[in-house]
Amino acid sequence: MSAKIIDGKKIAAEVLAEVERDVRRLKEERGIQPGLAVVLVGENPASRVYVRNKTQACERAGIFSQQYNLPAGTSEAEVLELIDTLNHQENIHGILIQSPLPEPLDEDSIFNAVDPRKDVDGFHPVNLGKLALGDPTGFVACTPAGVVELLRRAGIETAGKHVVVLGRSRIVGKPMALLMLLKGKFADATVTICHSKSRDLPRITRQADILIAAIGRPRMVQADMVKEGVVVIDVGINREETAGEKSKLAGDVDFEAVAAKASAITPVPGGVGPMTIAMLMSNTLKAARALLKKSAATPARAGL
Ligand code: NDP
Repeated sequence: MSAKIIDGKKIAAEVLAEVERDVRRLKEERGIQPGLAVVLVGENPASRVYVRNKTQACERAGIFSQQYNLPAGTSEAEVLELIDTLNHQENIHGILIQSPLPEPLDEDSIFNAVDPRKDVDGFHPVNLGKLALGDPTGFVACTPAGVVELLRRAGIETAGKHVVVLGRSRIVGKPMALLMLLKGKFADATVTICHSKSRDLPRITRQADILIAAIGRPRMVQADMVKEGVVVIDVGINREETAGEKSKLAGDVDFEAVAAKASAITPVPGGVGPMTIAMLMSNTLKAARALLKKSAATPARAGL
């Protein structure tokens, strides 16, 4: 079988163009420009690249962005103070704290401090809870939201299919599985979640109609782990260093071998990665619109 390559770059460009159009309308009709604050702590080179890509995407989409670069030694109290300021800043609708945070900062308490209405990364317990309940007013983590958008725009139905998700992180695996479990189109799947303690992984992955790999292990998914005709979504981004050569990106899936059996597959790079940024822009627009709805619903308090 020769697999259809799901082009994440092209689909992300479509999403970004739609966001850019809607941001322009919001500015023209309501005088509001969505704003995103991006907080980077420390010097992690990959994080710096991600942050740069995100602020560049903001520029393209017409979203105002403000970047905060804090040194690695910044205390938790200082990060929390900045988050509190941003939570109250009117021109900021979304707050992104670039993960991973350097030790000894506690990611959970920092993510939890972001106002859930500005949590465009979808990591706050309120938003994870809303996702679990199928409440569409919450924010869904950008990477899994991007995977659903890829499936939708590539015309890959999920209803009734067996979706196997490899990985159970707060950022990818868990919200991914919850999305596939929701009722509705491009959901309604039968879902299995695997992790490092799962026994006999190949036996489970071979049952997948759709396999979503988010484990952070380069090329771990091999051809003998999938069935003919499977759809494979590779979330993994692993940097491989080879002596004397520039480092290369590899997914969690052995692309060449698995593509020979799959009906459709995402490449790395150029698959899920660009979708994550596009969904961040889309979530920031959603946050700005939600604020408008809220102010329209608040009765005038003139004279009080
Ligand atoms: P985490 O390290 O937080 O989670 C990895 C998950 O994989 C864990 O649940 C872990 O199990 C499981 N796992 C690890 N090894 C195995 C194994 N041998 N067999 C089965 N399960 C295993 O990673 P993330 O979820 O943050 O990221 C996963 C990958 O996705 C990474 O490559 C990351 O770079 C990439 N990524 C890509 C993004 C994009 O934009 N494309 C965005 C975010 C992440 P356990 O829970 O038991 O430890």
